[in-house]
Amino acid sequence: MLSLNDIRSSFIDYFVKHGHAHVPSSPLIPRNDPTLMFTAAGMVQFKNLFTGVETRDYTRATTAQKCVRAGGKHNDLDNVGYTARHHTFFEMLGNFSFGDYFKDEAIALAWGLLTREFGIDPDRLLVTVFHTDEEAVAIWKKVAGLPDERIIRIATDDNFWSAGPTGPCGPCTEIFFDHGPEVWGGPPGSPEEDGDRFIEIWNIVFMQYEQFEDGTRTELKSKSIDTGMGLERIGALLQGKHDNYDTDLFRALIEASASVTGTDPDGDGNVHHRVIADHLRSTSFLIADGVLPSSEGRGYVLRRIMRRAMRHAHLLGAADPVMHRLVPALVGQMGQAFPELGQSQAMIEQTLLGEETRFRQTLERGLKLLDDAVIDLPEGAALPGETAFKLYDTFGFPLDLTQDALRERGRGVDTEGFDSAMARQKAQARAAWAGSGETADASVWFDVADKHGVTEFLGYDSLEAEGQV
Ligand code: ATP
Ligand code: MG
Ligand code: MG
Ligand code: MG
Repeated sequence: MLSLNDIRSSFIDYFVKHGHAHVPSSPLIPRNDPTLMFTAAGMVQFKNLFTGVETRDYTRATTAQKCVRAGGKHNDLDNVGYTARHHTFFEMLGNFSFGDYFKDEAIALAWGLLTREFGIDPDRLLVTVFHTDEEAVAIWKKVAGLPDERIIRIATDDNFWSAGPTGPCGPCTEIFFDHGPEVWGGPPGSPEEDGDRFIEIWNIVFMQYEQFEDGTRTELKSKSIDTGMGLERIGALLQGKHDNYDTDLFRALIEASASVTGTDPDGDGNVHHRVIADHLRSTSFLIADGVLPSSEGRGYVLRRIMRRAMRHAHLLGAADPVMHRLVPALVGQMGQAFPELGQSQAMIEQTLLGEETRFRQTLERGLKLLDDAVIDLPEGAALPGETAFKLYDTFGFPLDLTQDALRERGRGVDTEGFDSAMARQKAQARAAWAGSGETADASVWFDVADKHGVTEFLGYDSLEAEGQV
């Protein structure tokens, strides 16, 4: 059986054989784009090549790109543990053409890899195209011999890519695998498309147009290709599994999680192990790329992921911090492909241990408060925003952690109430500061903080120093 490590190598080798330069993954913190929270796709590091602002000594490239989709525009955090196919951290395998080949060759290369190199049964593959892209339909028929009913025309943005209101954009074609009628779900475009029967494995973007401010579009002189396939999804398929979490790499992490918590990997706790395995990867890779838990920005996203994992470990009955004990298993699985993991191992372990030790001081009492609050609520009612805010402010529960905990019980949070409690807290902090006599015009600070969205600039940092957040 091919391991995920083998599959990554086969992918890269295939495209190198077809004239692509193997370019290393870029870091999770985009260097060339401060507007992005995290690198969420393979194309991020090549942005300037698509626009022609930059050229390099290659026009074809292939990568296995580290991606995080847990904040900003792309956020799959709430899917983790619930779908077979989503992670907060995953690897996007990609091939790219910068003004070199276009639709014909991109489709032929993808089809050749899937059906010849990987030997996937062509009858279980189907594709979507943008509804007006007759060119793509014709190529799929010619190259793959796909019948009409397995070329699905989609009119939504799912099949039209653009980075923003202006710039390069174009139609996409996506390749799906049918995991069979035992799994619930319908083909793309159908009412059951959210099920996991038909799993999207590969997205191929044809950068064909340039869009201008006035809404008009012209054909690009130099057309490009940007593709992305999730390693974990193609891995599941090639290992004969339906679920990404049943692949060799995830099994090793799930077994490590079961072992440090003394629980069964496949019993009722399985969902907790899945979340832990996923969050272990995203937190470790983020720390290796220089993010540390904090109360704002990227650091707060990291903290939220860590604390969610820690609550799941707690639910498994872990009496002491456990996340740091899983890092060796991760380094064992992925350290060769990503040497930064091994290099940062000590730092990752210390950061996890520090965070879990601190969070455990308030976790139990917070969960008790949450349980008591839910018992008192009428059937189906949402948790009052005040309570969610108290959990946040006093017990260090990020809002989404509270939501995650309530989701298991089929309940939500009054988020408006939470926001107004937060706003009131800020106003009080402001008043207290103004009254301290330390500065004549403290409002300058708050205006700066508000303008830059540093919502927890005051107060929370100082609470944190006392171990309360
Ligand atoms: P989905 O519709 O399943 O959420 P997507 O359309 O959001 O996927 P793309 O943005 O097209 O995904 O990314 C390209 C490929 O990366 C996908 O076809 C899939 O194989 C993989 N991928 C995307 N998001 C995730 C994720 N959260 N976890 C694992 N793999 C992912
Ligand atoms: Mg998605
Ligand atoms: Mg999709
Ligand atoms: Mg897609």
